Amino acid sequence: MRIGIIGCGIAGQAAATGLARDGHDVTVLERSATARPLGAGLLLQPSGLLVLDRLGLRSETERWGATIHALDGRTVRGRRVLDLEYRGEHGLGIHRAALFNLLHQATLASGAKLRLDFEVVAIENFERPWLLSKSGEREGPFDLVLDCAGAHDTVRDALNPRVRAPLYPWGALWTAVPDRGDAWKGLLRQTYDGASLMMGVLPIGRAPDSAFTGPHVAFFWSLPLVEYERQKQAGLGALKPRMLAAWPQIRPLIDEIASIEQFALATYRDVVMRPWRRGNVLVLGDAAHATSPQLGQGANLALIDAITIAHCVRKCQTAPDAIDLYRRMRRAHIAYYQLTSRALTPAFQSHSRVMAFLRDTFLVGARYVPFGGYVTRTTLSGIRKLPWGLWQMPD
Ligand SMILES: Cc1cc2nc3c(=O)[nH]c(=O)nc-3n(C[C@H](O)[C@H](O)[C@H](O)COP(=O)(O)OP(=O)(O)OC[C@H]3O[C@@H](n4cnc5c(N)ncnc54)[C@H](O)[C@@H]3O)c2cc1C
Repeated sequence: MRIGIIGCGIAGQAAATGLARDGHDVTVLERSATARPLGAGLLLQPSGLLVLDRLGLRSETERWGATIHALDGRTVRGRRVLDLEYRGEHGLGIHRAALFNLLHQATLASGAKLRLDFEVVAIENFERPWLLSKSGEREGPFDLVLDCAGAHDTVRDALNPRVRAPLYPWGALWTAVPDRGDAWKGLLRQTYDGASLMMGVLPIGRAPDSAFTGPHVAFFWSLPLVEYERQKQAGLGALKPRMLAAWPQIRPLIDEIASIEQFALATYRDVVMRPWRRGNVLVLGDAAHATSPQLGQGANLALIDAITIAHCVRKCQTAPDAIDLYRRMRRAHIAYYQLTSRALTPAFQSHSRVMAFLRDTFLVGARYVPFGGYVTRTTLSGIRKLPWGLWQMPD
């Protein structure tokens, strides 16, 4: 098949690699003039690591990243309210640039073509799609187009006018800093004061562009978006004392940060889109089902989407059949993580004392109710489906 992919991110590159290796004629269209990732780090779950294994990238990914055995969340008074272990498996914190580079090398080696500086603004003829760029260029016709343009996708409205993608009122400042003593290894740690103060430290291993070749961590600070400009103007001088008062142990990390400009603001959307298709155009990854990052599943879902569409194209003779099979295979898994992320977000990022109380009471307690530990562990691993059951890797 001739396949066009919009977006050279996680979903786009993983899908391009799988499909081009199967012999399809794949073209990836990316709006940026240089292929590059944004942001500091993310947590790959056992589910995402299985996909990277299938793509032959797992051992290299593990070489760059940092093994995470558990999640540890405490209130500013030191009370543990989140204590989740992987048990027998592990997550992997990784610098976004490291993951991007590995996927990018695999994409280029697979024979997929890459067109940079091609911002898709419209699609013509959804049955035999052509992609139109901002500067008036055209690519096509394709048998199948995959829209992998991420949470802030502007193309998907043309596919489904009923799509909703509201911005969450809260976001986070993120940066990657050296962890010179490797003191933070093994755990994703978070500190909370109610739900209105949250910060975290995620070990992410080596950082491709850093002068320091040892381990790094991603450090994040949650904030309401309306406060962003004010906090930015006030600068690091005002922010550091607030961070240190809540979590004194982070001083060696904070001392690595020289200016507030070192932080990037991450915003997120809650994308609700049904159906994910129009004609022979299918939406994958964050473009179809972005959530807040509270459960750390977005990149993992994007990787699974990618490996699944490659499987469906392999199994079916035509693009419409492949899209139908994809929808059947993906909906219960994606629905679980969308609903759970939506329900949990106010417990971590809001001004609600009630939600913080419920979080502090029930998250640690979950392991003591029947199936509670099993459900939380399999949720964290990225394999739960609605209404009950577990995701399995396609053949
Ligand atoms: C703060 C934060 C923390 C997160 N932490 C985690 C975590 O710990 N674990 C986890 O699994 N996930 C995490 N996520 C989610 C994860 O980053 C996303 O789910 C993942 O990046 C989605 O991949 P994608 O390929 O769908 O989109 P992206 O990676 O966003 O890629 C989209 C690509 O499309 C390109 N593009 C956009 N529009 C166009 C266009 N019109 N034409 C051409 N190209 C276009 C973009 O330039 C980009 O290259 C986090 C997200 C945020 C914001």
